[in-house]
Amino acid sequence: MKCRHYLGAALALLLSLISLTVSAMNVSTENGQKIYHLSLAETWGPNYPILGDTTKSMKAMAEKMSNGRLQIRIDSSNKHKAPFGIFDMVKAGQYDIGHTASYYYKGKIPNAMFFTTVPFGMIAPEQYAWFYYGGGMELMQKVYKPLGLLSFPGGNTGNQMGGWFRKPINSLEDLQGLKMRTPGFAGEVMSRIGVAVTNIPPGELYTALERGTIDALEWVGPALDLRMGFQQIADYYYTGWQEPAAELQFLINQDVWNKLPGDLQEILRVAMRTAAYDMYAQSMDMSGEALDTIHEKYPNVKIKTFPPEVINALRKATKEKLAEMAASDPLSKEIIDSQHEYLRKIRKWTDISDKAYLESVSVEN
Ligand code: CA
Repeated sequence: MKCRHYLGAALALLLSLISLTVSAMNVSTENGQKIYHLSLAETWGPNYPILGDTTKSMKAMAEKMSNGRLQIRIDSSNKHKAPFGIFDMVKAGQYDIGHTASYYYKGKIPNAMFFTTVPFGMIAPEQYAWFYYGGGMELMQKVYKPLGLLSFPGGNTGNQMGGWFRKPINSLEDLQGLKMRTPGFAGEVMSRIGVAVTNIPPGELYTALERGTIDALEWVGPALDLRMGFQQIADYYYTGWQEPAAELQFLINQDVWNKLPGDLQEILRVAMRTAAYDMYAQSMDMSGEALDTIHEKYPNVKIKTFPPEVINALRKATKEKLAEMAASDPLSKEIIDSQHEYLRKIRKWTDISDKAYLESVSVEN
C-alpha cells in the first residue's frame, strides 16, 4: 500500500517535470477549425521602436496569412521580467517563440555569437547572402538543433555606430583605462587594447555617462540612440567597427514547430523572414531621419572615425580572439572559416559595386 503511494507520488512528480518541458502552445477548435495559440517573449520593453515593431509585424502577417489559425501573444520584458532569459524560456517551453539577439547567450553557447555579427565582419547584405545562400542557416541550425531549438534571422539594425565619447580619441593612448560600456565580443576586444570595459543595463546608460561612471558607451545608431539622449552629454559620435550587421533572432521551440501543420510552419517562416528584412529597411529609414535631427538640433555633436592606429589594434585583437575560439572548438572553427571564406569572396563584389559607387559619386558632392 505504502509502495503504491510512493509510486503515485513519483508518477505525479514525473508528470509535473514533463509538463515543465512541454510547450506552452495551446490548440483550440473553433467552427471545426484548429486554432494554434503561440506565445512569444521578446527581450525588448513594451512598444520599443524598430525591435518591437518587428515582432508586431511578424504577428500581424502570420495571423492574417493563416486566416486566424495562428494566434500569437507577445509578452515584452515588463511582463516576463527576463530580457536575457529568452533562450532559457523558449528552450524550457515556457514560451513557444522568442525574439532576442543570439550573442546575448554567448556565456552559455559561445557559438551563438557568430549569428548576430562579428567585428570587422560582413555588412548586412553580405550577411543575409551568407545566411540564405552561403551556408549560414545550416550552421546556425547545427548550433541550435541539439538544444531543441530552431533559430531564424530576426531583423537587422544595419551597421552600428562605434559609440559616444566625451573626449576625442586621437590615439591608442587615449583609450587606456577609459571606462566604456560595450557588451559582448566587442567588449572583450576593447579590454584587450586597454579599455576598462563594463556592461550597464540600457535604462541606466544616460545617467552613468552623465555622472562620469563611464566615459563612453555604444548602443546602436542614430535611430535608437537619439531617444536615449546621449547627444546632450557627449560630443563625439564615432563610426563603427564592432557590429557591422547586428542581426536579431527568432527562436522557436522545436517541439512546437513539429506540432504545427506544414502550411502554418511555412506561414510562420515567411512572416519571420519578411518582418526581419523589413526591420533592416525601417532601421535605415529611421537612422537617416534621426541623424538629420542630430545635425539640426545638436551642433555640438561631431561625427568621427577612429584613427588607423586604433582600428589596427582592434582588428589585431579581434583576430586573436577568433583564433582562440577556433582552436578551442571544431564547430567554432567551422563557422569562423565559413564566414571568413564567404566574406573574402563577397567583399570583392561589394568593393566594386556599392563601395565604388558611393566613393565615385561622393566626389561630386
Ligand atoms: Ca551595440
